[in-house]
Amino acid sequence: MAPTSAPRPETRVVVGISTVLTMDGTGASAEERLGAIDDGALVIEDGLVTWIGPRDALPTTDKSAVDLGGRVVLPGLVDPHTHLVFAGDRAKDFEARSRGESYASIAARGGGIRTTVHATRAASRETLHALGRERLARLLEAGVTTVEIKSGYGLSIDDELRQLEVISSLAAEGPQRLVPTLLLHIIPDEYRDSRATWVDLVRQELLPRARAQNLASHVDIFCETSAFTAKEAQAILSTAVGLGFEIKAHTEQLSASGFGATAASMGALSLEHLEHASDEVIAAMAASGTVAVLLPTASIFLGDSAKPPVAALREARVSMAIGTDLNPGSSPNFDPWLSGTLACTWYGLTPAESLLGMTAHAAMALGLAETAGRLRVGAPADFVVAHASRWEALLYGLGHRPVAEVWCAGRKIRG
Ligand SMILES: [Zn+2]
Repeated sequence: MAPTSAPRPETRVVVGISTVLTMDGTGASAEERLGAIDDGALVIEDGLVTWIGPRDALPTTDKSAVDLGGRVVLPGLVDPHTHLVFAGDRAKDFEARSRGESYASIAARGGGIRTTVHATRAASRETLHALGRERLARLLEAGVTTVEIKSGYGLSIDDELRQLEVISSLAAEGPQRLVPTLLLHIIPDEYRDSRATWVDLVRQELLPRARAQNLASHVDIFCETSAFTAKEAQAILSTAVGLGFEIKAHTEQLSASGFGATAASMGALSLEHLEHASDEVIAAMAASGTVAVLLPTASIFLGDSAKPPVAALREARVSMAIGTDLNPGSSPNFDPWLSGTLACTWYGLTPAESLLGMTAHAAMALGLAETAGRLRVGAPADFVVAHASRWEALLYGLGHRPVAEVWCAGRKIRG
């Protein structure tokens, strides 16, 4: 019998990197925290980064090194906020809004989210899976290697669990890492006159079942006049914390409820949108290390001119992340680079802040600070090779994605 031996770990050496942004730098400024290394090199073993630094310090002279020809490398992007498992579209709403009808008026006549809930409930599991797969592929082309996906279009116990099961089956296929979040989106129409019954069902049945079946790691809630009250949201999130979920909240988006301060004090990983966040909310986020997830295309697509208080968030040292908010109603956006650019031009982030927001800070918003969004020894070798020789050029472009190659766990899977 031939002797057997353990397979040699697969090793790859990558050179020809004009600048590698590790997102692992230290220092007070965002530019320092990019952790840029000029003329960099990477060593990858078994899908993990085992060495990273300047090429002239490379501990090997591997003749089979991959030469990228002088391009920028940065961590695989992390999209910390999507709603990408849904059926149907909202093109008719888009057309009506463009004619001047308000979002509220469209919702009142049964459009808006109800259109998506109806189509999602009616779609088979296979259809939802195929739609999710196609959307994940589009994000992968854009360099996104870690994606958070929320439920929230089922609005019944079984339909919410079914949406989470589809997310689980997508996660099992790879190559992206998915983070499944159970979103309490709005009060279902069936419970409009008995809200407390739905809140009890969520706390006593939906959350425990999702936990027992390991279908979600995070729970999110939409606290807004059209959705859950601050009191309802607090009750649901406290049950979620008790069951061991990480928590987050869509809050301070359309109005200043102040619930963000409560959610932060309960240990929320992130708060989303925040266009109307008060100083009190920002102070609570700073105290708890809660990340601000900014979603510029959601407000721009709705023609809403409100902007999150970026200067105050920066001043308070709240980490800012950026997501696509990919969803059929307010942000049918497949382009994280567009979000990053608009975060600069419309919200006032610097390009370095935006790039951190698309990687390291987005990973923090998901509780994945150690394993995503940064290139360092021990982290998965998930990275983007950019069509750029200088990092300052990455977000300079509209409708132009600077992605030449996408690598997941040390393998080139696009480009
Ligand atoms: Zn959202």
